[in-house]
Amino acid sequence: MARAIYPGTFDPVTNGHVDIVERASHTVDHLTVGVVEGSLKRTMFNVDERIEMFSEAVAHLPNVEVKPYSGLTVEAARKFGATVIVRGLRITSDFEYESEMALMNRRMAEDIETICLFSALEYQILSSSRVKEVAAFGADVSDLVPQNVWKPLVERLEQRKASNS
Ligand code: ADP
Repeated sequence: MARAIYPGTFDPVTNGHVDIVERASHTVDHLTVGVVEGSLKRTMFNVDERIEMFSEAVAHLPNVEVKPYSGLTVEAARKFGATVIVRGLRITSDFEYESEMALMNRRMAEDIETICLFSALEYQILSSSRVKEVAAFGADVSDLVPQNVWKPLVERLEQRKASNS
């Protein structure tokens, strides 16, 4: 049994991410969800908002904590005492990127293993960007994101619409 980190942008957390955390939390002693701070990606929610939403969504899991990190994931793993990096794999979209990232991380830290969990069937086409895209056009995304995420998402989209008009 080990300590693991599940790194990502999580802008915002979706039910696909929560599913990975739930399943990983049964496999390791302790899981830190590492929320990337100051990423190259422009995010809709700042790091504190992303952490708050993720923390609420996994509050039922006692061995999971949600923390910010910046810089290399392998360094964050060391800081959190993790020897495993957990990633989620959707069949059609993630293999190439995830395998390149895993090989690069292994090159930098041979003692840290990347373990990928396959996304559940119902979350295969779910991503934070797709959720934001369809929600911006008024689609109901309430079954794709945790209950506590739906309201802030709709509010942020409305604020954006108001400031663009
Ligand atoms: P990143 O910016 O690191 O890609 P994301 O927040 O998009 O961050 O994703 C974090 C991790 O969660 C990645 O391993 C990604 O493949 C995985 N992931 C994203 N969406 C899903 C999903 N629907 N089901 C399972 N895993 C997912």
